[in-house]
Amino acid sequence: MRPAAYLLRPRARRFGAMSSAADGSTPPTQPTLRTALDAVPAYVPGKPASAPEGVTAYKLSSNENPFPPLDAVRVVLDKALDVVNRYPDMASVDLIGAIAAFVGCEPANIAVGTGSVGILGQIIQATCDPGDEVVFAWRSFEAYPIVAALAGARSVMVPVDAGQRHQLGLMADAVTERTRVVIVCSPNNPTGTVVHRGELEDFLARVPRSVLVVLDEAYLEFVRDADAPDAVAVWRAHPNVMVLRTFSKAYGLAGLRVGYAVAHAPVAAALRKCAVPFGVNTLAQVAAIASLEARDELMARVDVIVAERARVAAGLAEQGWQLAPSEANFVWLPLGTQSGPFAAACEAAGLMVRRYADDGVRVTISEPEANTRFLEVCRAFGPR
Ligand SMILES: *Cc1c(COP(=O)(O)O)cnc(C)c1O
Repeated sequence: MRPAAYLLRPRARRFGAMSSAADGSTPPTQPTLRTALDAVPAYVPGKPASAPEGVTAYKLSSNENPFPPLDAVRVVLDKALDVVNRYPDMASVDLIGAIAAFVGCEPANIAVGTGSVGILGQIIQATCDPGDEVVFAWRSFEAYPIVAALAGARSVMVPVDAGQRHQLGLMADAVTERTRVVIVCSPNNPTGTVVHRGELEDFLARVPRSVLVVLDEAYLEFVRDADAPDAVAVWRAHPNVMVLRTFSKAYGLAGLRVGYAVAHAPVAAALRKCAVPFGVNTLAQVAAIASLEARDELMARVDVIVAERARVAAGLAEQGWQLAPSEANFVWLPLGTQSGPFAAACEAAGLMVRRYADDGVRVTISEPEANTRFLEVCRAFGPR
């Protein structure tokens, strides 16, 4: 038998040599952590709901679905509780089969993960060495700079324009030989705008095939803009494009952590290699399958939220607010330095909203009563 590899490293200093600090230096007093972690921004979760006495509080800070789980989902979750002593199906065969049938592709083109945030981490792990670059719009989803920094990759943030839209031309300009990934978030979180078919095709024509373009469609089901691209068709037409989707928003399973990627087979295989083993648990798998089967019922709920979005947008316009149209389940108020006072006014009314420093405030479209109260706060605050 060959000796273990560690015995074959004559130049590695032994622990004894390190700890005796023969060179006079002070030996470390704690474990050595990667310096790349110093550049990782903290994820700010949406605040939980809290309200003054006698007022119902609403959490409008995490773009969650306000509807309770479907009965069909409760039934499969209840059954799956019987087997939580067992590991989940590591390959998520049934779920991947159901997603592939829904998307209209091969199972080899689907990878699942612990939410699309989990898959985003796998994407960066699969593509980026330290110093490589990830290009995305800003503001956009705050998980992007986190997953990039975790891998020691550099975030290249291209500002959205005055209309809160991706500047795809500038994003193509930002691609260098170090770029491994470009993320296009449409609808964009937190600004709510979509990219359009024509500009996306122009952009893809300029991006080298060696760069992976991720179309993050977390809010796809809320889109009503006829010029929005069909991301799966775009994926089929471009070998360097992949699509990212989630069960957290329209499907209402945020608490179970499951999302999926539609990717060309080599990319999908790389994503599976980077997955946490058994990450997508049994409850998440069965609930996602049941949700795809109950899609019509879920999409009727999405229609209700979209109608509420239209009511809120009309109410804000009537008050004099000039906002970019939202294609997602939230609205974005680019309030600048008024963001803090506005978020405080919402909180005083029992509405937890998401403030982004002195850029703006994002407010989730939720129950009608919450949306109406939000409009009242906006009226009292006055359009800016
Ligand atoms: C909410 C969201 C996701 C999905 O997150 P999950 O991890 O699937 O819950 C992905 N991308 C964007 C832009 C989002 O806003």
